[in-house]
Amino acid sequence: MITLIPMKELKKCIRSIPDFPKKGILFRDITPLLLDRKKFKKCIQRFVALSPKKIDYVISIESRGFIFGSALAYALGAGFVPIRKGGKLPYRKFQVAYDLEYGKAVVEIHADAIKKNSKVLIVDDVLATGGTVKAAVHLVEKFGAKIAGIYFLIELAGLQGRTQLKKHPVHSLITY
Ligand code: AMP
Repeated sequence: MITLIPMKELKKCIRSIPDFPKKGILFRDITPLLLDRKKFKKCIQRFVALSPKKIDYVISIESRGFIFGSALAYALGAGFVPIRKGGKLPYRKFQVAYDLEYGKAVVEIHADAIKKNSKVLIVDDVLATGGTVKAAVHLVEKFGAKIAGIYFLIELAGLQGRTQLKKHPVHSLITY
């Protein structure tokens, strides 16, 4: 049986860096957690435990989202779909512009990435203001896919990003 790791154990592996990349931002650095093979594995197992059966695609947002999303897709036997920052994808694509906690951004997805009526999960490392994931939801909805869940390693609850995602089940492994 797989035991689920408590949040406080995971939190010990998140390094908090003040004023990065801008003054006033407390950056949550996930790299110590990725170094810890047991805890990294436990995170993916937690996502697997949350996941409904028969997911067709896991969709993640560049770049740290790819670390968790691709591992989860592998664990679930699902396909993986990257959402990338503007200008990186080579083929025909859909695009959406949005505001970040620190700045502005554009994200894109290949126009043939997701089949209609497929069951998908969206995964990212951090839910901050929710602007990024809201843009991802917007892109995914264009395909007529069913979003079965939106998972984050970390949720910065004070920024209330969750309020942007009322239509879908949202789960975070760590909250601050
Ligand atoms: P947002 O669109 O505000 O929800 O921000 C989403 C993305 O920005 C996340 O996927 C993170 O990669 C990054 N991000 C925002 N705030 C932080 C933070 N305080 N620490 C680490 N990453 C952050």
